[in-house]
This record gives sequence, C-alpha cells and structure tokens, in this order.
Amino acid sequence: MKYYIIFGPPGAGKGTQAAPLAEHYNLKHISTGELLRSEIAAGTELGKKAKALIDAGNLVPDEVVEGMIAQAFGRYKDVDGFILDGFPRTFLQAMDLDEMLESRDEEVTAVISLVIPESVIKERIARRALSEGRADDAKDEVVANRIATYHAQTEPLIEYYKEQGKYYEVESIGTIEEVGEKIRCLIDKIG
Ligand code: ADP
Repeated sequence: MKYYIIFGPPGAGKGTQAAPLAEHYNLKHISTGELLRSEIAAGTELGKKAKALIDAGNLVPDEVVEGMIAQAFGRYKDVDGFILDGFPRTFLQAMDLDEMLESRDEEVTAVISLVIPESVIKERIARRALSEGRADDAKDEVVANRIATYHAQTEPLIEYYKEQGKYYEVESIGTIEEVGEKIRCLIDKIG
C-alpha cells in the first residue's frame, strides 16, 4: 500500500489536488477537515465539540483526528493506498501515524508539500469563503490564526520527513491541471 501525505498551509490546494490524484492512482483520499465537517453537519457529539475549535482556527485534539484516520484505514480495502490531506498536523500525529503504519507493516511513502506564497494563500481563502461558505474562511483573524498554527505546529514536520528522505516540494502555482501534472510527474518518479 502507498501512503502519501499531501502537505502545506491552509489554502495551498491540498484537497483540490488530492481528489483527482486519488482517482488517478486508485488511492482513498482522506481529508480530516472534510471528515470533521461531515461530523459537524451530522450534528454528532464529536462534531459539536470540533465546531467551536475549527471556527476559531484552532486544531482539534490529536486523539480525535487519529481515531478518524484509524477508522478510515480499516474501512477501505480495495484501494492501492491512501492520500492523507490535513493529517498529520502536529508532531504527535506524525509519530502516531508512523506507529499505526508500523503495526500494519507499512510506512509513509512520500510527503508532497505544496509551496505557495502567503499573499496567495490569503487571496485563495478569501475567494473560497464566498464559494464554499466555510465559517473558518470568512474572518481574517481566524485565517491568521490558522496560518500561525500551521507555522507553529505543522511546519516543523518538514524537518521530520526531510530527515527520513521522504519530503518533496511542488510549487502550487499555475492552473489546477498544471500543478496536478507536476505532482503526477513526481509520484511517477518516486515510483
Ligand atoms: P485548511 O487546511 O484549508 O485550513 P482543513 O479542511 O484541512 O482546512 O481543516 C479545517 C480545520 O479542521 C482545521 O483548521 C482544524 O481546526 C481542523 N483539522 C483538520 N485536520 C486536523 C488535524 N489533523 N488535527 C487537528 N485539527 C485538524
């Protein structure tokens, strides 16, 4: 099984790129953000607790997202692997992911990092706020908090994966198709 992580700051285009890649390579796309938004929409206990954190631009607890990931790994058997979008987002999540995979005799295949200037991120999120209506996209201070959280908690994972020789960067600039093509080239090269 392949285990790709699509990595990058909020608004980098992780979900946009992960969906067609999953189809192309017969992978299951797991977006923790999407899973959390489904819980909120369904009005579950988990969703109720997550909503306040997400709307303020904070992370939900590690064990909550890890539970969702473990469940998804168990559920999808007819795929050639997974593409993780929005996970791991903290050091603990990265280490727990390694443990989860090790217990299945598997490992992270590669981390594909979407690189994008901060000014473009803010523009894209502002545009997405109008089209998708996500509460966490609409307020400047919430977006700023998400970007700050990314720098503080998620960006340090780059070093973690670099040390393992699993970290690859792609510039997330150009059309969706152009960026997708760059990622497919990279995945085909990694083999
Ligand atoms: P984006 O990356 O565009 O900000 P996501 O849809 O990936 O949006 O995530 C939305 C929100 O869901 C995050 O701001 C965070 O509150 C929560 N979330 C998603 N994934 C995780 C995670 N791995 N750990 C903790 N919180 C998460």
